[in-house]
Amino acid sequence: MTLTSTTTPASTTESTATRTAFRTCPLCEATCGLEITLRPKTDGRGEEVVRIRGDQADVFSLGFICPKGSTLKQLHDDPDRVRRPLVRGADGQLHEATWDEAWAAVERGLTGVVDAHGRGAVAAYLGNPGAHNIGSMLFARPVLKALGTHHVYSASTVDQRPKEISTGLMFGGFTVPVPDVDRTDFLLLLGANPWASNGSLATAPDWPGRIERMLERGGTLVVVDPRRSRTAEAASQWLPINPGTDAHLLAAMANVLFEEGLVDLGSVADLVAGLDEVRAALAGLTPEAVAPVTGIDAVTIRCLARELAAAPTAAVYGRIGTCTQSFGTVASWLVDVLNTVTGNLDKPGGAMFAKPAVGSANTRGTPGSGRGLVINRRQSRVRGLPESLGELPVSALAEEIDTPGEGQIRALVTLAGNPVSSTPNSARLDAALADLDFMVSVDIYVNETTRHADVILPAPSALQKQHYDLALLQVALRNVANWSEPVLPLDPDQPDEWEVLAKLALIAQGAGTDADPAIVDDLVYGALAEHAPDDVRAAVDATGRRGPARIVDVMLRTGPYDLTLDDLLDAPHGIDLGALEPRLPDALRTPTGKIELAPEPILADVPRLHESVRDGTLGRTDERPFLLVGRRHLRSNNSWMHNVEVLVKGKPRCTLQLHPDDAARLGLAEGDPAVVASRVGSVTVPVEVTDGIVPGVVSIPHGWGHDAPGVELRVAREHAGVNTNILSDEELFDPISGNAVLNGIPVSVAAAS
Ligand code: SF4
Repeated sequence: MTLTSTTTPASTTESTATRTAFRTCPLCEATCGLEITLRPKTDGRGEEVVRIRGDQADVFSLGFICPKGSTLKQLHDDPDRVRRPLVRGADGQLHEATWDEAWAAVERGLTGVVDAHGRGAVAAYLGNPGAHNIGSMLFARPVLKALGTHHVYSASTVDQRPKEISTGLMFGGFTVPVPDVDRTDFLLLLGANPWASNGSLATAPDWPGRIERMLERGGTLVVVDPRRSRTAEAASQWLPINPGTDAHLLAAMANVLFEEGLVDLGSVADLVAGLDEVRAALAGLTPEAVAPVTGIDAVTIRCLARELAAAPTAAVYGRIGTCTQSFGTVASWLVDVLNTVTGNLDKPGGAMFAKPAVGSANTRGTPGSGRGLVINRRQSRVRGLPESLGELPVSALAEEIDTPGEGQIRALVTLAGNPVSSTPNSARLDAALADLDFMVSVDIYVNETTRHADVILPAPSALQKQHYDLALLQVALRNVANWSEPVLPLDPDQPDEWEVLAKLALIAQGAGTDADPAIVDDLVYGALAEHAPDDVRAAVDATGRRGPARIVDVMLRTGPYDLTLDDLLDAPHGIDLGALEPRLPDALRTPTGKIELAPEPILADVPRLHESVRDGTLGRTDERPFLLVGRRHLRSNNSWMHNVEVLVKGKPRCTLQLHPDDAARLGLAEGDPAVVASRVGSVTVPVEVTDGIVPGVVSIPHGWGHDAPGVELRVAREHAGVNTNILSDEELFDPISGNAVLNGIPVSVAAAS
C-alpha cells in the first residue's frame, strides 16, 4: 500500500517567540487536526496557548474545525478544573490533598467496603470521554479487572449499545459498517444530526462539508427525524417521524423490497445467511400497516424504498435516535438489513468497514470467522436486565445501589463519567450516590456526579496527554492514523492519566499504595505483545518507551499496515491509509463465517414490533400525551463543556421545543415557563415554539442542569438549564440491549403556574 504523509519532520515548528504544535482534537468523534500556537509565559514559567485553529495539512480534516476545538485552551486554563486530588474530610467537604493522602484514602475506602461486603459490592462507571482517551482506553480495563466485580456500567447503554449488539451479532466483534459518504449517491439518515454532532459511530471531520459535496455532485440526502434538525434543513427531503418508530419504517421499506422483487445482495450474496427468516419475520409490517404509527404515509415509504434500491450507490445510517429508543437493537439491525438487501454492504459508496491501523479484532486472528457475540450471559440482580459486552445497563445502577440484599453496591468508581447528568431517573441515582459507603472518581471537575465522591483523582488536561483514537478509527470513513504528543507538560506531581488508572488498579487489587504503576503497564503491554515476533518486541523495547506509546507502537508494528510509532511521529498531520475498500469476507468474525442477517435474539423481539403497531399508542396516555426527545447543539458536548463561557454565552439553549399547534392548545408562548412531567419526575423549562418538530412531540437537550449544591462549575451554573434525565425513566429500555429510552418518553406539558 502507498502511504501518503506530509513531510514536516516533527510535531512542532519553532519561531523566535512562538512555536506551533499539532494534535488531534479529542472532544468528539470527528478527530479533527488542530494547529496550536504557543508562546512563553511572561513570568517565564512555561508556555501558554495563544491560538488553536484547524490544521490545514491534516490528512483527514484538511483544516476543518468546529467551535469546540479551539476551546481546549479554555478547558486547560479553567480555574474550576481539578488540578490536585480532593479528599473528603471529617467536615464533609472536599479538600485538596497530596497524591499520597489521596491514594491512602482510596485504599481505606475500597478495602473497607470489600472487607465488609465483598468485591461484588463495588461498582464501576465509565463515562464517554474515556473512548476519546488513549490512557483510559488501555488502562481502564485493568481497573475493572482488579475490582473483580460484575457491577460494570458505562455511558454505552445510554448511547450506542444497540448498534454494537446488532452489528456484533451480524458480523462478529466490533465490526460496524459506516456510510461511505464521500462516494455515495443516496444517503438515508435516521436519528442523526451530524451538523450538530459532527458524526458518531462514523468518524470523519466535516460531515457537513462531505454531505454538501455529495449534494453538489447530484446525490440525495433524506433525513428521518421527529425534529427538523440542522441536518434536516440541509437535506433533499425531511421525513418527520414519530419517536421510536424508525424500526417500523425500516421494516416496511424492507417489505417493499421483498414484495417488489427489489432485493439484490450484490457482492455479498454468497455470504448472507437468514434472508428468508428476515422476510418471514417482517411480513405484515407493510407501509400501510406502519403509516399510522410512524406518521409517514404509505406512498412515501414505498417511494423511499424504491429510491434506495434504485440508487447506483446508497447507504442507510442510523444513530443516537435509532439507538436510544424502545426498539433500539431492532432498528439498528434493520439499518444494516437494508444496506445488505440493496446490495450496498461492503461496496464503495455504500456501507463499508474501516481497516484501522491498530486495535481491531477484525484485523487479527483467522480472517473470515471468529467467536461472534454472545449477549445476556448474566442479568442484573434487581430487575434481571441483560448483560452485554461485559456490562450491565446503566438504567439498573440506581436500583442496584438503593435496593438492599446480597450484591448491593456500596462503593462506586467513576472514570470520566457524569451518570447523574447522563442516565435515566437522575434524581434516584443522585440520591443513591449520596448513600454510598465510598466513591472515588477520576475526573477533572466537581460535577453533578463527582460532588458525591470521597476522593477525586484529577487527570491531566487534554493538552497534557498523548493521543491516539484507538476506538474512533475503528469506524472511520477513511483509513488514517495519527499520534499526538502532549502539547504542554504535566503539572508538578501530576501523574499521567494511565499512571493514575494503573495505580488505582493496583490498589483495587490489594497491592497497596506503594505498588508501581509500571507493573500494570508491563502487564498490558505484555498481553498485547504476546504474539508479536521477537524482533518486533526487541525493536519496541529498544525505544525505551513506556505507557500508551509503547503499547501503540507494538500494536502498529503488528497491525495491517506495518507502521511504527516513529512513522506517526514523523507525520504530525497524520498518515492517510486510503479510502475504504471492500473487506468481506475477511472482516467477518461470526462463528459461521457468514453475515448473520437474522440473529435469533433480534428476531425474538420482532413480534413486539408487530404488537406496537396494533397498540399504536407509542406509550402515550391521556395523562402523558406528548413524547419527549432530546437534541444536541454544535457548541455542546453532552455535559462536558458547559463551563466554557464562549460555548454557552448567548441565547439560552436549554429550551422546550414545542409545535405551534400544541403551544396554542396549551396556552403557551415563546419563553413561557412550562412544566414537563414524566412518570419519574418533572422540570420547568422555557418554551421555544417551532414548526420544526412533529406535533405531539417535545424536545429538551441533554447534558444540562448544573445548579445542584456542591457542583463547582461557575460558568455552567450561570447557564444551568435543566437535566432532562430527571424525566427519563429507568423502566423504559430496549429489552435486547438494556439501552435506555431517551427518545420517546411519555410526558405531560403544562404552563407553569
Ligand atoms: S468537530 Fe469540533 S469537537 Fe469534534 S473533533 Fe473537530 S474540532 Fe474537535
